[in-house]
Amino acid sequence: MRETEATTDARRAMEVCNACRYCEGFCAVFPAMTMRREFSTGDLSYIANLCHNCKGCYYACQYAPPHPFNINVPQVLAQVRAETYEEYAWPGPLAGLFKRNGTVVSLATAGVIALTLLMTMALVDPSVLYQPQIGPGAFYRVIPWWLMVTLAGGTSLFALVALAMGFRNFWRDTGGRADELQRAKPLAVALHDILTLKNLGGGGGGCNDKDEAFSQLRRRFHHFMFYGFMLCFASTTTATFYDHIMGHPAPYPFWSLPVQLGTWGGVGMVIGTAGLIWVKIVSDPAPAARNLLGADYALLVLLFLSAFTGLLLLAFRSTGAMGVMLAVHLGVIFALFLLVPYSKMVHAVYRSAALLRHALERHPTPPPGNKPSDRALGSAA
Ligand code: SF4
Ligand code: SF4
Repeated sequence: MRETEATTDARRAMEVCNACRYCEGFCAVFPAMTMRREFSTGDLSYIANLCHNCKGCYYACQYAPPHPFNINVPQVLAQVRAETYEEYAWPGPLAGLFKRNGTVVSLATAGVIALTLLMTMALVDPSVLYQPQIGPGAFYRVIPWWLMVTLAGGTSLFALVALAMGFRNFWRDTGGRADELQRAKPLAVALHDILTLKNLGGGGGGCNDKDEAFSQLRRRFHHFMFYGFMLCFASTTTATFYDHIMGHPAPYPFWSLPVQLGTWGGVGMVIGTAGLIWVKIVSDPAPAARNLLGADYALLVLLFLSAFTGLLLLAFRSTGAMGVMLAVHLGVIFALFLLVPYSKMVHAVYRSAALLRHALERHPTPPPGNKPSDRALGSAA
């Protein structure tokens, strides 16, 4: 990672914190920091992505503004984190999409929705957009099967490859090795930290979004959003199995597994994203990196729309509004897939990778001769 004004500021903050260490028990950032005397740009990238932005250390800090030391750890780590998204983006020429990301995400979403509607009108009889379509295969009468599979498969495959390349770039830059990824114990520890959002604990009972008071709201809303997203993913996977393996195309009855998973997942995502938007609106701007708020809001709105339009489609699927609802919903989903590698969504990959790196640091490989198998060999000899 290149040296920038943000990495220089973050290094200065880490050096002050390393001398102070008051916040040592707050989150994973401080134990990772104390393991270092000097901070390379790779170390700062790792530490910045380890920060969950709970803001606990800002309110606890005796050197925070207006103190002349001007220590604002959440803000400076957020700036470095944003630079890492650009730095590790794949393919490189698309990294520029992280600049003015809120505008990019909004315009691209609107463009993809409009394109999906136009393609529908060009490829099928436009009357399907306002005449009720019911029974098995109704969705394919609006958007042909081949188009749906090509767009969904193409955009999701592209997103997966781009995210995997981003992970590889991060892992290499922060000093990781490929063989470390096979160690079961650190993997299990990291998975636990990811799934529980343990590091949103801050200095007590949660985040400090509005002020010094701790709150679990952000963690709970994030859980609603994340597990809602996972239920929606499970719904899509189940529906794909029903359609392509069992030969039973959508739409499915309300009490079927894909619809139940999608409904509860969609409700969870709507609650989670709306809650997170609200937390952002009421939170104290002092520890926040204001120039990054556009990207935060754009992703939350995109996730909200993907769930909300899915629920609208479910509610109106047997009416004449189904055609337009389906085209709009799929437009949002295709936009989400396309934009995932170039939106704030990448924080899921880099933060998970940073938590894995942290788990590896806490559970290092035993030196040769200290493994149980080596000791057994030694005593046998
Ligand atoms: S954030 Fe402030 S109080 Fe906490 S370790 Fe750093 S310098 Fe010390
Ligand atoms: S996770 Fe919270 S306590 Fe830890 S560095 Fe980030 S803002 Fe500070």
